[in-house]
Amino acid sequence: MTASTEVTCAVCGEAAKELASAICGECDRPFHLNQHNDVEGKDCGDVWVDEQFLSLRFACFTCLPQEGAPAGEGEPPVGKQH
Ligand SMILES: [Zn+2]
Ligand SMILES: [Zn+2]
Repeated sequence: MTASTEVTCAVCGEAAKELASAICGECDRPFHLNQHNDVEGKDCGDVWVDEQFLSLRFACFTCLPQEGAPAGEGEPPVGKQH
């Protein structure tokens, strides 16, 4: 019996429960997306609200543009001291 449908994440290549995944709007492939904050899950992409169409947009990390900036949160920019 295949009660729970599983898909293969296009980002990390691991199996993902269909309920814990989403389809990327760019490459049309499934990826890990934890849509329930009360459940531990994996995120291999992002979801946001498209302000133009007022609909949810999904994109996997493969398709999301990488800023190229290191995640240096809390790190102040280098500046000259007085
Ligand atoms: Zn994944
Ligand atoms: Zn994608």
